[in-house]
Amino acid sequence: MSTNESLANLLKEERRFAPPAELAAAANITAAAYEQAGADRLAFWAAQARRLTWETEPTETLDWSNPPFAKWFTDGKLNVAYNCVDRHVEAGHGDRVAIHFEGEPGDTRTITYAELQREVSKAANALIELGVRTGDRVAIYLPMIPEAIVSMLACARIGAPHSVVFGGFSADALATRIEDADARIVITSDGGFRRDKPSALKPAVDEALTRPGTEKVRNVLVVRRTGQETSWDDERDVWWHELVDRQPDTHTPEAFDAEHPLYILYTSGTTGKPKGILHTTGGYLTQTSYTHHAVFDLKPETDVYWCTADIGWVTGHSYIVYGPLSNGATEVLYEGTPDTPHQGRWWEIVQKYRVTILYTAPTAIRTCMKWGDAIPAKFDLSSLRILGSVGEPINPEAWIWYRKNIGADTTPVVDTWWQTETGAIMITPLPGVTETKPGSAQTPLPGICATVVNDEGTEVPNGSGGYLVLTEPWPSMLRTIWGDDQRYLDTYWSRFEGRYFAGDGAKKDEDGDIWLLGRVDDVMLVSGHNISTTEVESALVSHPKVAEAAVVGATDATTGQAICAFIILRGCASEEETSGADAPGGLVEELRGHVAKELGPIAKPKRILPVAELPKTRSGKIMRRLLRDVAENRALGDVTTLTDSSVMELIQSKLPTATSED
Ligand code: ATP
Ligand code: MG
Repeated sequence: MSTNESLANLLKEERRFAPPAELAAAANITAAAYEQAGADRLAFWAAQARRLTWETEPTETLDWSNPPFAKWFTDGKLNVAYNCVDRHVEAGHGDRVAIHFEGEPGDTRTITYAELQREVSKAANALIELGVRTGDRVAIYLPMIPEAIVSMLACARIGAPHSVVFGGFSADALATRIEDADARIVITSDGGFRRDKPSALKPAVDEALTRPGTEKVRNVLVVRRTGQETSWDDERDVWWHELVDRQPDTHTPEAFDAEHPLYILYTSGTTGKPKGILHTTGGYLTQTSYTHHAVFDLKPETDVYWCTADIGWVTGHSYIVYGPLSNGATEVLYEGTPDTPHQGRWWEIVQKYRVTILYTAPTAIRTCMKWGDAIPAKFDLSSLRILGSVGEPINPEAWIWYRKNIGADTTPVVDTWWQTETGAIMITPLPGVTETKPGSAQTPLPGICATVVNDEGTEVPNGSGGYLVLTEPWPSMLRTIWGDDQRYLDTYWSRFEGRYFAGDGAKKDEDGDIWLLGRVDDVMLVSGHNISTTEVESALVSHPKVAEAAVVGATDATTGQAICAFIILRGCASEEETSGADAPGGLVEELRGHVAKELGPIAKPKRILPVAELPKTRSGKIMRRLLRDVAENRALGDVTTLTDSSVMELIQSKLPTATSED
């Protein structure tokens, strides 16, 4: 079986969904945008840059004289925080809600643009009082509370690049990121609420700052969130409510060069050691603003937007902070987990705030599928008009479930492909234009040039697969890996001359639509056939008994690689049912038969192991490389960005060591 046939199999039902007529008629973007951008890509981006308010308008769009080090809008000057906050107040929208904050315990705060302007100004003044100067790095280690957004904007306002570290990371992970970015200030909190109880953050900062390499941190600015007991260093630690609250609530923003560094953010670490990605000012804000407007069809006067990502990964940066706020959106910010105090918490929030646009990850959608259709059905979700997905390939099964159970079988689902490195969405349907196909990210956005190439770098014809590459620079592209230009060149620009190598496998279907097939590192070679993990996982998840699946290729003497599948069964509650040992013979045969029917006999997993949980990164992605380590009886690789290391212990301890026979 070729992979092309298997794709055809997955596509056999030919499910397509036209945009709702009403949405299409009033959409922010029409098909004409593709033509305009196709005719003159740089003119198109120059026009999008005018969405922003510049102190000095750029005259040059792209400087590509030293590839792959791009400069966008290089002679322009602007302030990012001014664009995200002040200009909306100046335009008369000071009373518009910027943030509906929902704490996990049920406490709420409503922050208008006028209040946000005061909060950001005070925080900027506080950072200046702490001696933070333009160019100094600030580490931010906070839960999902408004101060996280305020801190990021305060840094942007004074030109101090931030490095947000996910609040769930360990002291070690925090210390290496503080050291790598050479941060001088850390902003944190006593803790945050998670799963019904206060969860401390400050102790991890205290511990991190005992590590070598972090000596240059002068101050720790601490938000009081939970009120829990917190150890204190009088010389170094400062309470937010003591320092920030007494600051003047006005601050005059200074304009910075378009290429001034805005932030450093480390990748999720799904495929290895995280990379410190550097984003700059003008191009980044142009593309996050444009894509948020285009892909979510945002109508700032009427929409209520909610992105469930954490602020600690790129989706939180681009689609909680910079994209939506630059567009003057009203958004929801939720602190906690989806199942506290009950599994309908998200849907309760959608109902409460009348959320119209929801952006989340396939892992969350599959978890909701596992909990069952009855839970969202209890809530009024009729306000929703657009649903988005990001982070991993979304299985057609999960896509359909999302649209049907959350989107009343009418809302468009936009599957958005992008990376920390790309800074903003790159490949996606447009809700008012594209006829969507479940499981496919489909089309490069206007102004974006992406294609699929083979090993030799030749573009593949429709109906074939290979590697995803970006063939032209784009405004929100990473500028380098922080402090390591060589790694930037090696990782992204050396595989295919002159093109950006994303590291993802992809296919073009007969219509030329792009389907993401998972990491190139994860592609399996079984008896001489390339098989994508995504396809086998999608086939497994399409079986009614399977909620989630992670597939890896383990070295095998006879076939090269043997397919090993770890599955979570649907609606299964007890430990017994998820024993970690190979599944009972009946179920194994049933699932193998199902995969064979969907994809062909060669894609049949050799082993199928039910597990209670899969190892995931903090951003919710399955870490297949760890499962591969387990399947091949190796020591585990880097686990620092894993959500819960006990998951791996559980899987390892229960995994029978002998390889079962076919
Ligand atoms: P690391 O680079 O450290 O291994 P990571 O790649 O998981 O971590 P991110 O930048 O958060 O870090 O994730 C980007 C990757 O996520 C993409 O390269 C792709 O593999 C996957 N991805 C994101 N969105 C989609 C999508 N809509 N469809 C398919 N894959 C996606
Ligand atoms: Mg990556």
